[in-house]
Amino acid sequence: MASPPNALMRQKLEQLSLDLFWSWSHAGDAVWRQLDQAVWDRTENPRFLLQQLPADRLEACLSDPALLQDVNALIQERQRYRDRQLWTDNLPKDLRTPRSIAYFSMEFGLSEALPLYAGGLGMLAGDYLKAASDLGVPAVGIGLLYQEGYCRQFIDAAGQQAEAFPYSEPAYLPIEPVPSPNGNHLRIQLELPGRLLSIRVWQATVGRVKLYLLDSNDLLNSATDRGITAKLYTNDPETRFLQELVLGIGGWRLIETLNLPIDVCHLNEGHTAMVVLARTLSIMARTGRSFWPAFWIARAGTIFTTHTPVSAGFDRYSPVEVPLPTNYIRDILKRYDIEADLVLALGRLNPSDTSEPFNMTWLAVRGSAMINGVSQRHAHVSQQLFAPLYPRWPTEEVPVSHVTNGVHTPSWDSKWADDLWTCACGKSRWCGTTEELPVGIENLSDQVLWTFRAQQRSDLIVKLRRRLEAQQKTHAGTRSHVDPDTLFDPNVLTLGFARRFTDYKRAGLLLSDHARLKRLLNNPNRPVQIVVAGKAHSNDPQGKQLVAEWVAFTQQPDVSHRAVFLEDYDIRLAQDLVAGVDVWINTPRPPMEACGTSGMKTLVNGGLNLSVPDGWWAEAHNGKSGWAIGTGAWTNGVSGVLSEAEKNSRDTADAEALYQVLENEIVPEFYERPDGALPDAWVARVRTSMANLAPHFSANRMVREYYNSYYCPAAAAYHTRQKEGGKLGQTLEDWKNFLVRHWNQIHFGTLESEPCVRGVAFSVQVYLGEISPDEIRVELYADGAGTGSSPFRKIMTRADNLPGAEHGYIYQLTIPIDRPPSAYTPRVIAHNEHAFLPAELPLIRWQH
Ligand SMILES: *Cc1c(COP(=O)(O)O)cnc(C)c1O
Repeated sequence: MASPPNALMRQKLEQLSLDLFWSWSHAGDAVWRQLDQAVWDRTENPRFLLQQLPADRLEACLSDPALLQDVNALIQERQRYRDRQLWTDNLPKDLRTPRSIAYFSMEFGLSEALPLYAGGLGMLAGDYLKAASDLGVPAVGIGLLYQEGYCRQFIDAAGQQAEAFPYSEPAYLPIEPVPSPNGNHLRIQLELPGRLLSIRVWQATVGRVKLYLLDSNDLLNSATDRGITAKLYTNDPETRFLQELVLGIGGWRLIETLNLPIDVCHLNEGHTAMVVLARTLSIMARTGRSFWPAFWIARAGTIFTTHTPVSAGFDRYSPVEVPLPTNYIRDILKRYDIEADLVLALGRLNPSDTSEPFNMTWLAVRGSAMINGVSQRHAHVSQQLFAPLYPRWPTEEVPVSHVTNGVHTPSWDSKWADDLWTCACGKSRWCGTTEELPVGIENLSDQVLWTFRAQQRSDLIVKLRRRLEAQQKTHAGTRSHVDPDTLFDPNVLTLGFARRFTDYKRAGLLLSDHARLKRLLNNPNRPVQIVVAGKAHSNDPQGKQLVAEWVAFTQQPDVSHRAVFLEDYDIRLAQDLVAGVDVWINTPRPPMEACGTSGMKTLVNGGLNLSVPDGWWAEAHNGKSGWAIGTGAWTNGVSGVLSEAEKNSRDTADAEALYQVLENEIVPEFYERPDGALPDAWVARVRTSMANLAPHFSANRMVREYYNSYYCPAAAAYHTRQKEGGKLGQTLEDWKNFLVRHWNQIHFGTLESEPCVRGVAFSVQVYLGEISPDEIRVELYADGAGTGSSPFRKIMTRADNLPGAEHGYIYQLTIPIDRPPSAYTPRVIAHNEHAFLPAELPLIRWQH
C-alpha cells in the first residue's frame, strides 16, 4: 500500500498529468521520463504512465532526492505559470472587454496523447488554446471526443501505405468527466426525431484554458446514436450532420448549462455553424424577441474563420440525397414555433430556392459579424468564393479580412532552442507581446547560432536512426540496405518534407526527376540528405501511390543512407523534424495553401523555409530568410479550376524551379565557408528567420490579433445589442426591413464633374424615396487603377436638397483625380453605426 506522503505525491502528479501544460514544458518531459522511460518513450502520455506505474516503483522514485526535486520544480513551474501577470491584465477594462470566448472546432490537435485531429485545422486549434492560456485570453474550446478513426499509418510488406484505426480508451486520455451539480457525469440533451440524445461532457485542461469535449457514447443512447461522435470526418452525411448538431447546438447548450459568460463565439469552418442557431434560440427565450432580432444580437458576438480555399471543402447537404437538415432541425425548433425552412434558407445562396443544397459555410457567413481567412492571400481567395453572397459588390469589398495563422512556439521548440531563446529573450518571452524579441536573437553570434544548428541536426539524426530501426523491425516493407546506424551524416545539409499527402501539396514534385534528385543527394563534395513523412487519406489512391513511390525511392541502395521515409507522421514526429532539419520544403499548388503552418514550426529552431510563396510564405518570404520556389502567382481566378494540362505545366515549371534553387543557391550557400569554419551567409539567414519571422508567425501574435481586432469589437457590439431586452436587435431588424422594402426607390441623376483648383468637383442628384439620408451613404467609387491596386472609394457629402424635388438631394465631392472623370461612379450603400457593413446588410445601388 502507498504510504500517505506517497499518496499525496501521486495526487500531485495526477494533477500535473491532467494539465496539458506538460505538453509544452520541457521540464515536464524530464520528470515523466525518469518515472518510466519505456512507457514515456512509447506513449508520451503522463496520464497513462501514472496509471501504469506500480506503487513500489513510485515509492522507489520518490525516495530519489534528485527526482523529487525535479517533480517539485515542475509543480512550482506550473504554479508560477498560473499565478503570473497576464497580457490581458494590462489591457483597459471596458465595454469592449470580452468576458469569455468560445472557440468551436471539429478538431483539436494538442498532443498525441489526445488524438482528436486530422491535420492543420486541428493543430491550429490546439496551438490557439495554448497561446490563449499563455496570454490570459479568457477562451474555452468546444469540440467532440472521438474514440475511433484516428488514422495510424504503416508501410506493408509490398511497400504500400496501410492504415490502422486504434480505439482510444477515454480512461487513459488526459481528460476528466465534467461533474453535474448532483455529482454525476454531466450530460447535455439534444432532441432528435423520436428520442433524446444524451451527450456526455469531458474536459481537458490546457494551462489556464479548458477544452470541453462532447461525446455521444453513452449507454443511455441507442447503439447507432452512441456512434455519432465515434469518428472524425465520417463519409456518411447523416452522421456528419448529427456531429455538427452535437457540436453546435450541444456546444451552446453546454455553455448555458455551465453558465459560462460567453460574449464571443469563434466559429472555425462551416462545420460549427449550428452555434448560430442555438444561440439565436436562447436569445429568443431570454428576451422574448422573435427570430430575426435575436439573430442580429447573436451575430454581433459571432466571428467566422474559414480555413479552406476551395468551395468543394464546404459541407453541403442536398435536399434530395439528404433530407436530414429539415428532419433534424424541425424537432429542435418545435418549442419556438419556427419553420425549419427559415433556418435552411440561411444556408442557401438563393434563400427561396428549396432545391438548393444547405451549405453550412453560407450559414456561418450569414450568422457572423466578422469573417476572416487565415492568410492575406487566402482572404482574397475567400472573397471570390463568398462573392455570390454579396451581389453587385466589387470582389475587393467582400467583407473577408485576414488573420494569418501562427504556431504555439513553446510546443515546437526543442530543448536546445528553448535554452537558447531563454538566454537571449528571457523565460516568459511567449506570454506577453513579442515585438521586442528580435533584438535578443539579432545579438547572438555566428558561432553560437551555428553550434546550435549542429546540435539540432545531430539530435535529429539520432532520433531518425532509432525510428528507422523500429520501423524496420516491425514492418518488412520499410527495410532497405541501410543499417540504421549509418543513416544520415551530422555534417550534411538536411532537408525535410512532411505533411498530408493530398493532391495540392504535390509530395511528388521533388521526385519528378529521380536522377536529378540522386545527383543532389550523392554530390561527393556537397551532399544532401532528406527525410520524408506523411499520410495519405485512406481512400485517396493517388496520395497512397506517392507514399509508395517515396518508400521505394528511399530504399534504393545508392540513396538509402541519404533518404528516408518515416511512417506515421504525427505531432511527435513533426516536433522532431521541425527542430532538426536545415531546410523545410513546401510545394503547394497555388493558391491552394490557405496558410500552411508546419514551416512556421521550424522558425524558432533555426530551420529555413524553401516554399512556393503561397499561404503564409507569400507574406513572409523576403529573400533574406529562406527561399521561394517559382513566383507563386496564380492565374485561374477562383481557385480549384485548373485543367489537367494547366496543372501539369505548372507542376513541371515548379519542379524545375525547385531543383534549380536547391542546386544553385541552397547547397552552395550551406557549404560555402569563407573563413573555413562557418557558412556566414547561411547563418545570417538563420538569424533573420529566427529573429523576425518566429515572433510574427507565432500563435501569440495571432491570438492577440483576434483579441484586439475581432473579439473586442464583437463583444462591444454584442453588449450593446442585447441590453434592454435586445432593443437594438429589434431596431436593426426594423431598419433592415424598411431599407429592403424601399431600396428600389433609390435612383440617380447624372454625375457632373467640373475641374477646379483642388482637382475635380463631382456632384450628383440622388433620389432616396422614403429612405432617410441618415440610413444610407453615398460614395464615389472607381476600380483600382492597375491590376492588384485597391479600388477608390470616398463618401460624398450631402449639400442641398434639390429644389422642387421630393426626397432628392445633391451629393458632392472634390478630389484630385488620376484617371478620367468617367472612371468614377456614385453608389448608395446602407449605413448604420451599429451594424457591421456590408457583412450584415449588403445592399448597394449603383448609378449604372
Ligand atoms: C503542423 C502539422 C500539420 C499542418 O501542417 P501544414 O504545413 O499546414 O500542412 C499537420 N500535421 C501535423 C502532425 C502537424 O504537426
